[in-house]
Amino acid sequence: MKTLNDFDFKNKKAIIRVDFNVPLDENFNVTDTTRIEAAKPTIDAILAQGGSVILMSHLGRPKGAEEKYSLKHILKTASEILGVEVKFAENCIGEPAQTAAKNLQPGEVLLLENLRFHAEEEEGNVVFAKELASLGDIYVNDAFGTAHRAHASTTIIAQFFENKKCFGTLLAKEIDSLNKVLNNSVKPVTAVLGGSKVSSKITVIENILDKVDHMIIGGGMTFTFIKAQGGKIGESICEDDKLDLALEILRLAKEKNVQVHIPVDVVAADDFSNTANTQIVDVTVIPDGWQGLDAGPKSLENFKKVILESKTILWNGPLGVFEMETFSKGTIALGDYIAEATEKGAFSLVGGGDSVAAVKQFGFEDKMSYVSTGGGAMLEMLEGRVLPGIAAILD
Ligand code: AMP
Repeated sequence: MKTLNDFDFKNKKAIIRVDFNVPLDENFNVTDTTRIEAAKPTIDAILAQGGSVILMSHLGRPKGAEEKYSLKHILKTASEILGVEVKFAENCIGEPAQTAAKNLQPGEVLLLENLRFHAEEEEGNVVFAKELASLGDIYVNDAFGTAHRAHASTTIIAQFFENKKCFGTLLAKEIDSLNKVLNNSVKPVTAVLGGSKVSSKITVIENILDKVDHMIIGGGMTFTFIKAQGGKIGESICEDDKLDLALEILRLAKEKNVQVHIPVDVVAADDFSNTANTQIVDVTVIPDGWQGLDAGPKSLENFKKVILESKTILWNGPLGVFEMETFSKGTIALGDYIAEATEKGAFSLVGGGDSVAAVKQFGFEDKMSYVSTGGGAMLEMLEGRVLPGIAAILD
């Protein structure tokens, strides 16, 4: 796996695919700088060696060149964060990009206009990718959030760099963290899978059954498993067409010696609302008119024991409807347990889908070993797929 360490960037132009798809307010101010900060270590390292940097990214989902999606809006913020004045090319290909790239001096940073102003980006157009490639000497992919897309700048471009391509610091860290959980893990390994639906997690579950010792199932998925085993789930969310699948997962887990932990009690509510009436009930006898919206205290005790004994923990998906305070306690408690296990030396990875939002909202970000930056990309990796953006560098 080639990283920045495999190259000398002195007097070289690195063309880096970053993920600067940041949120902007109505005055085009960047409201969350996380993604720009995440790309900083890679950019800094190249500049420090005496190289120059050409940054390419998408922003939003423009239809053609729409002013409101121009990356020029982020120039000021990017310059502040990177500590250098970031130059700008008003088109990512053609004369503006070529001239700006040609004139770029060691220590300088150039940002190209939004890649998605050209439909060729998402089409994975080879000619477009070749034009981008002509701007730099070494290709660096540091955009994990788009690594699962075979777009021109994330994948197709790599073929024009033979041996001169590598992963940036951020992307390398993502791959390394996932490897620590799925391939080089210290046992016991526990995966916590929450969220709303079995159907959206099934491929993840199937893939990780071979890698883990414990699987904690929580969130809305719980009720498909409970109903499949004959429990009464009231009005709880359930995928009736996945009952057989749930039983099959339990059978497979047994066959593979994976211990499955499902909530035994839940916080049931008489309405899907923060102000609903609630009661703690046994998960197999939820009364009619009530729905389970969070894990109950006995379940949390069970989960705590498992988590604190684990040496490797993967967390994907909340244990309840964490967006409503009344049903956020299970998810917060789980975060606390994982934080405690991490402090005691376990490796914990949070990622995929919605879990990162929960982790940030409750302030667990710094207490986990690694919080993934890519929702969809991480989910696909957990499913065991080789992401095109990663494969293109390894090629
Ligand atoms: P996912 O994107 O699959 O990780 O699912 C996250 C969503 O699952 C969050 O928006 C939660 O509110 C939701 N969720 C978690 N537990 C439940 C539950 N018991 N009933 C309904 N939705 C839930």
